[in-house]
Amino acid sequence: MLFLDELPEFARGAIEVMRQPIEEGTVTIARASGTFTYPARFMLVASMNPCPCGYRGTRNAECRCDDAAVAKYVSKLSGPLLDRIDLQIEVSRVPFDDMVRTDGAERSATIRARVLAARDRQRKRFTGTALTCNADIPANGTRAYCRLDSAAMHLLKQASARKQFSARAIDRIARAARTIADLAESDEILAELVAEAVHYRSLERLATAA
Ligand SMILES: [Zn+2]
Repeated sequence: MLFLDELPEFARGAIEVMRQPIEEGTVTIARASGTFTYPARFMLVASMNPCPCGYRGTRNAECRCDDAAVAKYVSKLSGPLLDRIDLQIEVSRVPFDDMVRTDGAERSATIRARVLAARDRQRKRFTGTALTCNADIPANGTRAYCRLDSAAMHLLKQASARKQFSARAIDRIARAARTIADLAESDEILAELVAEAVHYRSLERLATAA
């Protein structure tokens, strides 16, 4: 796992070169002595603030950034890079009382069991192929492995028209919806699961709004 905290604080060039390893699982380095390709398969996890001061959209304090500063901050992340990030989720500040409470939260062991079961479904699905999980499904395989019924397809079409999703983003939504269905132990990818996957593209919304 590669975790990049405060993603927009990295130089744009450094962020952009990650497109190749994210997509292909390899990294190619050119030196005077030759060109070398290394394996670089990782799960990318990154975090960022909603704006440079970190308070935009929160109730605790007032954001001091003007629209131009926010647009500049968000524009560090290009459309092609956002396309390659499956799940983009806004998380609000956790109130103190919630942070210290000990009841109500689902246990990690329970979540782990659900993840392992979903992984197992995927292993069975890809038996006899080189694929190991939904994230490996190539663009030309999404129609076969992530089949959407007409209601789900209609929802994706509408969301795509509204949010101007690229072909790559649509493939990723289909794969994420397949995984959400696996976690729910469902063979069908229902429209509501596609809606959930679309909802996980919130950075594109932020980028459009800025
Ligand atoms: Zn701010």
